[in-house]
Amino acid sequence: MANICRNYNIPLLPLLIACLYLSKAIVTAELVQISQPIAANDGSVNFLVVGDWGRKGAFNQSAVAHAMGEIGGKLKIDFVVSTGDNFYTDGLSGVNDPAFAQSFSRIYTAKSLQIPWYSVLGNHDYHGDSEAQLSPLLKKRDRRWNCHRSFDVRAGFVHIFFLDTTPFVNKYFTNSTDEKFNWKNIPNRDIYLSNVVKDLKTSIKSSNATWKIVVGHHPIRSIAFHGDTTELLHQILPILQANKIPMYINGHDHCLQHISNIGTPVEFLTSGGGSMAWRNQTNYQRYKKNTKFYYDGQGFVSVQLTKSEANVVFYDVHGKTLHSFNLKANTGNAY
Ligand SMILES: [Zn+2]
Repeated sequence: MANICRNYNIPLLPLLIACLYLSKAIVTAELVQISQPIAANDGSVNFLVVGDWGRKGAFNQSAVAHAMGEIGGKLKIDFVVSTGDNFYTDGLSGVNDPAFAQSFSRIYTAKSLQIPWYSVLGNHDYHGDSEAQLSPLLKKRDRRWNCHRSFDVRAGFVHIFFLDTTPFVNKYFTNSTDEKFNWKNIPNRDIYLSNVVKDLKTSIKSSNATWKIVVGHHPIRSIAFHGDTTELLHQILPILQANKIPMYINGHDHCLQHISNIGTPVEFLTSGGGSMAWRNQTNYQRYKKNTKFYYDGQGFVSVQLTKSEANVVFYDVHGKTLHSFNLKANTGNAY
């Protein structure tokens, strides 16, 4: 570089600074940031969480959708969070895939659900054209749809960080699974993951929201079929602990579960009961004392937040309450 600069009489220092700036801009793309208005007069922020759902209404998806509509209306929800695996079995084939309408627009038809949906991608979404789910063209088909790889949503005093967890899982990049992935838009996994981690740290640290919640498709801790995601235990959990994140919410395991903090301030919630459910437990003995709730049927979760308190409720396919707990802001103590 120095020789080139000398030969062409280019000042070295400004060029170095320009290169440094350019490389930083490429490597540390900022998270997509979305501002969500709050509807409730009392200033509360209310939302539902559903995961692992897109099966064209089958396996009780339509029944869960109906119950979500009922509860959503009662709670006057502001938005819906999807924890991924939005379209089974292989995501969307493109922006015109009819599965989008068959599994989303024509299923979640209740009035209370005609609000923004914030979705992460799950491993099944990566089987297909994951880029299609991120396309603005899909939002033109249904204005509710908001899906990005990693992004954050600010809703008043609440800040939710959405993480693209699928590329963290090592076995998806080897031949040790039958699943076939389409990684065409993640050409360099190491750089991609390091950016996701860096962006998460930066965004959490720079936020002064009362409630900071992290959402991803894969569980960090789970007693169910898939169990813990080791890569997230090592790479994401320390960030949540260091920043006293009170809740991590995921899908992937097709159940509802609440594992209370294990040497951390974090409550681990699974909402993966949007359609097909599984009966299987792997880590129960390990997390026996900390498992506050486990249900291997379909359902969903509501989260109601005020500046002082969170109320989390788990519902079955009929909208019946199965489990609930409260958290005081900034204490991390469930009660
Ligand atoms: Zn999954």
